[in-house]
Amino acid sequence: MTTDDFAQYRHVARAGHVPSFDTPPSSPPIYQTAAFDIPDPEFLAAMRAGEASGYVYTRDGNPNHAALAATIAKMENAEAGAVFASGMGAIAAVLLSLAGTGDHIVASRLLYGRTSQLLERFTHQFGIEVSSIDVGNPDAVKAAVRANTRLCLVETISNPLLDVVDIAAVANALGRIPLVVDSTFTTPELIRPLDHGASVVIHSASKYLNGHGDVMLGVAAGSGSLMKSAAETASQFGQNANPFESWLTQRGLRTLPLRMKQICETTNRLAKFLAGHPCVRRVCHPAVNSHPGYDTARRLYPNGTGGIISILLADDSEAAVARFMRAAEQIPFSPTLADARTTVSHPASTSHRYMTVQQRTDLGITAGLMRLSVGLEPFELLRHELDQALRNCS
Ligand SMILES: *Cc1c(COP(=O)(O)O)cnc(C)c1O
Repeated sequence: MTTDDFAQYRHVARAGHVPSFDTPPSSPPIYQTAAFDIPDPEFLAAMRAGEASGYVYTRDGNPNHAALAATIAKMENAEAGAVFASGMGAIAAVLLSLAGTGDHIVASRLLYGRTSQLLERFTHQFGIEVSSIDVGNPDAVKAAVRANTRLCLVETISNPLLDVVDIAAVANALGRIPLVVDSTFTTPELIRPLDHGASVVIHSASKYLNGHGDVMLGVAAGSGSLMKSAAETASQFGQNANPFESWLTQRGLRTLPLRMKQICETTNRLAKFLAGHPCVRRVCHPAVNSHPGYDTARRLYPNGTGGIISILLADDSEAAVARFMRAAEQIPFSPTLADARTTVSHPASTSHRYMTVQQRTDLGITAGLMRLSVGLEPFELLRHELDQALRNCS
């Protein structure tokens, strides 16, 4: 090859560089790149000192992460946000940023199954002590706090019995101890936990924030220093989000207000319909006035409490659940929630299967308990399908 050939030579390995143009895209691009080209080491030093802007390596940061984190921070009225590979990634990163070996965590005894398992693992693997308590009782919260307590973890509305937590009451009882709130069930459309005294809010964005059942992602919002440390923990442990799913979640968020409004309306109507159904023994939903969280929910959730309803079949058995699922052809048994379509789950065999029968019974999770995640279908359609399926299972 001559020198000229070298100058002309464009090897395919160097193809695909970003063209520059003067008309910005109407929708944000996906920065599907592992790394970013940096002019020289001096520029890198300036970036690290905060004097130049840019990204280095996607595990540590990417424009799609940054855009979503900023949106979440704004929605949650927080100083900063951060994104993670999943809801569990967010919870693990936040907890590990706040607590280490020899520290103590206070937690609600009613948490997402995998979160409870994670806390058990913290105890055994990292030597972090955990007290699981009834956070509805402020005296129990005060009594649980020790000199080495680093945080308290609760969920806004818990799975599957929809226990409603009074965030301000827990925050008051904790004093200066940070309150970490998993608001996956409620979203910033229904409540902003930081406005009620929480220090950190976490979401499984795999659920309502994305809302289309096609993403695994977690987010958190809180102080700038804590979000920085949680994002660093996530990068260290490889719990980082990826650009595409951050982009998808950002897109999903644009319709969150409309989706939550419709879901809450349909859910409240369905809860009332189900409460009067002869094949249903009990409905767990804060809009039903026999629910223990009814008054707290009316005070804290003027716009609704989300799309989850749990129902106990009149025939409290797994066989009745199986009959319901076979009859409800259009409502799939799916161990997630907050899809655009309505789904049904069975806590005893999915989220709470790691418990003993006695532990489940003590919590009220028996064989005939089903959890509905109400989607975007019209109320009349869901009422008809649920009625048919319920009549088939008794
Ligand atoms: C699903 C869920 C999680 C875990 O989120 P993933 O994105 O599945 O890791 C945490 N908390 C609650 C309340 C959830 O429903």
